[in-house]
Amino acid sequence: MKSAVVTGGASGIGLAVAQRLRADGMHVATLDLNPTDDEFAFTADVTDRGQVDEALGAIRAKLGPVAVLVNAAGLESFKRFSEIEFDRWQRVIDVNLNGVFHCVQAVLPDMIEAGWGRIVNISSSSTHSGQPFMSAYVAAKSAVNGLTKSLALEYGPHGITVNAVPPGFIDTPMLRKSEERGYLAVQQSIESTPVRRIGRPEDIAAACAFLVSEEAGYITGQILGVNGGRNT
Ligand code: NAP
Repeated sequence: MKSAVVTGGASGIGLAVAQRLRADGMHVATLDLNPTDDEFAFTADVTDRGQVDEALGAIRAKLGPVAVLVNAAGLESFKRFSEIEFDRWQRVIDVNLNGVFHCVQAVLPDMIEAGWGRIVNISSSSTHSGQPFMSAYVAAKSAVNGLTKSLALEYGPHGITVNAVPPGFIDTPMLRKSEERGYLAVQQSIESTPVRRIGRPEDIAAACAFLVSEEAGYITGQILGVNGGRNT
């Protein structure tokens, strides 16, 4: 049985990915900001390398070396560009981009040693065309797409694939919070989505489940949009 780590695994997309990988027969540990009752849920802020390394040490002790990493921890932010305080800009880049840096660096030794690994980074469909008032988030997620492609080239020879899944509108606490704050009209989004529905966390989990499978070994450096046909 392979061991997987899912960041942001306490909520929304990360939670659905963790559940799906478990159903597919993997040992799955989650990393998130807040503790839960789940014995395989570990608490760490992905922007803090010390916390990430400590959690990974505990995960390895419990589940063995990490073969699969899905980076789903994320932080949205809405503000006109000229009004973004630099601290806020940095935090958004830190969680969405630097968190991926820390988690990937922390698990790579296990994957290199095994000669096998799967990494999936959850970016965002907003990277296709940009999104007003989300410049920090879109900048960070676009960098994640670029990082994904570079890592695929660097680590392909080690048997490690690295892909990104940029979700469209997915019904999660993050999306509903944006709706409540007036930054998103869900009904309007559904009407402009070719498949005419909002995405479910399970839609993203299904794509991740395929990308981390043995049979997806010839797919790397790809940005697999899961967005109901809309690209913004
Ligand atoms: P969510 O329900 O808010 O889940 C994100 C999880 O990440 C939360 O449990 C959150 O904890 C955790 N998290 C945030 N900052 C963290 C940190 N520094 N360290 C560890 N964990 C942290 O959101 P979601 O919609 O499932 O989003 C999952 C991913 O998909 C994110 O990367 C998001 O940007 C991306 N995405 C989502 C959509 C969408 O429509 N939902 C669209 C495009 C991309 P707290 O709740 O305690 O902050």
